[in-house]
Amino acid sequence: NILIEQTDPELFAAIQSENQRQQDHIELIASENYASPAVMAAQGTQLTNKYAEGYPGRRYYGGCEFVDIAEQLAIDRVKQIFGAEAANVQPHCGASANEAVFLAFLKPGDTIMGMSLAEGGHLTHGMALNMSGKWFNAVSYGLDANEAIDYEAMERKAHEHKPKLIIAGASAYSLAIDFERFAKVAKDVGAIFMVDMAHYAGLIAAGVYPNPVPHADVVTSTTHKSLRGPRGGIILMKSQHEKAINSAIFPGLQGGPLMHVIAAKAVAFKEALQPEFKLYQQQVLVNARVVAETLTARGLRIVSGRTESHLMLVDLRAKGITGKEAEAVLGSAHMTINKNAIPNDPEKPMVTSGVRIGTPAMTTRGFKEEEARMTANLIADVLDNPRDATNIDAIRAKVNALTARFPVYG
Ligand code: PLP
Repeated sequence: NILIEQTDPELFAAIQSENQRQQDHIELIASENYASPAVMAAQGTQLTNKYAEGYPGRRYYGGCEFVDIAEQLAIDRVKQIFGAEAANVQPHCGASANEAVFLAFLKPGDTIMGMSLAEGGHLTHGMALNMSGKWFNAVSYGLDANEAIDYEAMERKAHEHKPKLIIAGASAYSLAIDFERFAKVAKDVGAIFMVDMAHYAGLIAAGVYPNPVPHADVVTSTTHKSLRGPRGGIILMKSQHEKAINSAIFPGLQGGPLMHVIAAKAVAFKEALQPEFKLYQQQVLVNARVVAETLTARGLRIVSGRTESHLMLVDLRAKGITGKEAEAVLGSAHMTINKNAIPNDPEKPMVTSGVRIGTPAMTTRGFKEEEARMTANLIADVLDNPRDATNIDAIRAKVNALTARFPVYG
């Protein structure tokens, strides 16, 4: 950090401010986490200097003997964690992992089926403005009257539209997904079955959320959410798909892999194989349940009625506040969340009637049930009286007292 300060004081100031923000705020964005110092250190190594197009042992550049070791460690570890037959650790992010699957199996105009963005899916699963919605005929499934995935409607649609690829996985769905049921439907209609486990990957690694790997042809993920690694993507697959997926990533979609990030993925996967990681993920689940129960007791509605994961969607309408306003006012009380549409949201996507809350980051900094309950009560205190500046100032002081007790990076 001293080197950054000497070389570029202007940038250094921005980094310092961001570090302070991460320490002072309670991070409640469900897709964020705090990577370990070892994960961050790996990203700051000389591996950033190396071109390594190709795969371990089969590169288009000389001098790859040591980055080969790093990439092979990442591959072997991630296969071990999830019980996968094969793995590609080169995707630069979750979106490019998904695009590579499309490139491997689809042609423009083919039909795909994924969860609707408005009901919890991700934009790369067929949203109109995303490549997945522009280049493919995207059909979507959603939720039933109880705000659980409507598996029967999904099955009906699959038989009606005969998609070439079915995607399970979500960005804002709190319940356990029945991957086996999806797999059966995909088999019945002759579709490739892809799971995007980006949100749940850490829970799955620890065995506290259903593992899609035995059921899916391919499983994509980010590495930076609940899995707590560096910002990046991975693809796990059955051996029969390895060649198609590897050539879709390179040379199909990407050039040189980010070897420093792949090294950091190897570190994160090693961490995920330790017994402490299972305890961490169990606490993530407990904390999410405590937050959901506390918010419910304070008069807020949890979409789908409960959480079985690290996240929940909160319906704010009972408090007469939009997601946009809640995001701003919670932010000024030093609690970071994102606004999020709820099912059948009457508000526009940039306004919304909900917020999404996740517990991976708070749990990494050491919050247990007591702190999770305090946090949920502080959220409700803000939402009960969002336009009173004195109330917000008092809550910010309580948040700061809490975060000061739990330093993120020692
Ligand atoms: N898939 C899911 C389910 C996600 O929630 C996200 C991120 O929000 C992505 C893919 C995309 O990941 P990235 O932002 O790394 O491209």
